[in-house]
Amino acid sequence: MPRAPDQCNPPRLASSLLRWTPVLASAGLWASLGLSSGYASYENIEILYEQGSVESALPGAWVWLAGCLLSGLLVVLVLLQRRYGRRIEQLQEQLERSFHRLQEAQFIARIGSWDRNFETGETFWSEEACKLLGLEQARTDRKHYERLIHPDDVERVTEIIAAAYYQGGTYQCDHRVICPGGVEKYIRLSGQVFMGDDKTPVRETGTVQDITQQHQADTAIQRSEQRLRAILDATPYPILILENTDHLPVLYANRATYALFHIDPGLALDDIHLQDGWVDATELTAFAQGVVQQGSVLARETLLKDADGRHFWGEISGNMLDYSGVDAVFVTLADISEQRRIRAEMERLATTDTLTGALNRRSFLDAVQRELRRSVRYRHPFALILLDIDHFKRINDRYGHAFGDEVIRRFCEVARTCLREEDLLGRIGGEEFAAVLVSSEEGGGYLVAERIRKRWQEEAFDCQGARSNFTVSVGVAQLLSDQDSVEAVMERADRGLYDAKRAGRNCVIVYNGERPLELRQQRPQ
Ligand code: GH3
Ligand code: MG
Ligand code: MG
Repeated sequence: MPRAPDQCNPPRLASSLLRWTPVLASAGLWASLGLSSGYASYENIEILYEQGSVESALPGAWVWLAGCLLSGLLVVLVLLQRRYGRRIEQLQEQLERSFHRLQEAQFIARIGSWDRNFETGETFWSEEACKLLGLEQARTDRKHYERLIHPDDVERVTEIIAAAYYQGGTYQCDHRVICPGGVEKYIRLSGQVFMGDDKTPVRETGTVQDITQQHQADTAIQRSEQRLRAILDATPYPILILENTDHLPVLYANRATYALFHIDPGLALDDIHLQDGWVDATELTAFAQGVVQQGSVLARETLLKDADGRHFWGEISGNMLDYSGVDAVFVTLADISEQRRIRAEMERLATTDTLTGALNRRSFLDAVQRELRRSVRYRHPFALILLDIDHFKRINDRYGHAFGDEVIRRFCEVARTCLREEDLLGRIGGEEFAAVLVSSEEGGGYLVAERIRKRWQEEAFDCQGARSNFTVSVGVAQLLSDQDSVEAVMERADRGLYDAKRAGRNCVIVYNGERPLELRQQRPQ
């Protein structure tokens, strides 16, 4: 426990004097009374006895009177001591207690105080300050402290203190000291400089605090922050932290985010307007609202744009985050343009026929199902035509399989040119195609089928130097009722096709089940 140093305890001296005052006063009182009475009695008796005159006894009386006055004065002193001595003692005790408390507080807080008088050049260091710096208490010179400052910090500390000496006021600087014994400590030196009328410093007071542990903890935190930042910057996935307010200011963005949006690496976070990275900025707002309401949003696809204006697809996920007390949204982003392209390509490959680009059988039938449901719901007509190239086996046999492929590909092109954008075309077999004519009845189906048949018949091929044309047979059917099915419509169209083949090929037959067969046939000229 720190003890108040004796050198700075003047009240104790005054108190000691006062404490002894009654004793001194009593002794003086009795001594002066005794002496003066004795002397006066002796003198007066002698004089009166020898001379019989009162005047001649006066000197003795004066001495007696002076003795009485002195005694009276001492009595007054005793009374004063009784009146004020206790109070002074109490004050002295209070002062001592305060001093002890201050010492204790300094000890607990590891803060020492100091005080410098510019006139005397003396610096007083508190006990805790001396202990903290390893100073001898006897040393009162400021230079002693300056010699402890770490050589690398001397210039900086000197500059800060010099500025305070120039204009007065307070200063604070953290720096290293090398204590006697070579122990290095981090000290927080705080001071206040009081200026005289001539604008020169007259007094300076302040504290020294050992912040070594705090500094070590701060350094450890800084290092772990640096490591975390390095990890986040090394990750190839863009990571953002947005403040949960209207404009979603960016609190953190890793390097991958800058790269994703082609943001200038030197741009400060405050200058990043994330909304500029969205083709439709309301999607960002809606995403943030979703995170706030649901706690998290996973893998939402959104159209982004970089600083150069290039559009690309991104996948955004987010969840709520307490960012050092700030309500924030933690966001991860990914450029999924390539995935979307691959996905679209795979979908295309899965749904289309590689030779012709028409829908394959499975996806065509799925599309027909959807179309049929729509036709039933909106009471639209719906026609289906089946097309089969005539004597295709012969083409293969005569000109080879590759030529046969080319014929199939060219037939698909011809059929497509005769259909509307919204119509569906599928390759449902080797040289068999089907088309759904949206919002068309059998009459419309027949007309389209006829157009295809004629166009195909006119399509010329160079077969081993000779010009050749091929033909196609077509069956047409339509949706007859709400209860009708794709299979039933297909079956009727197939029946029409079968009849067309039987009728000699290169013709179109519309077949409507129960109704009498309607044969419409065009023979080649
Ligand atoms: P029809 O007039 O009665 O339709 O006679 P067809 O010879 O066209 O009929 P068939 O169905 O008997 O023959 C179809 C042939 O098409 C059989 C098969 O070898 C051939 N084929 C099927 N798929 C392909 C293909 O992708 N490429 C080629 N080159 N030929 C194919
Ligand atoms: Mg066939
Ligand atoms: Mg055929």
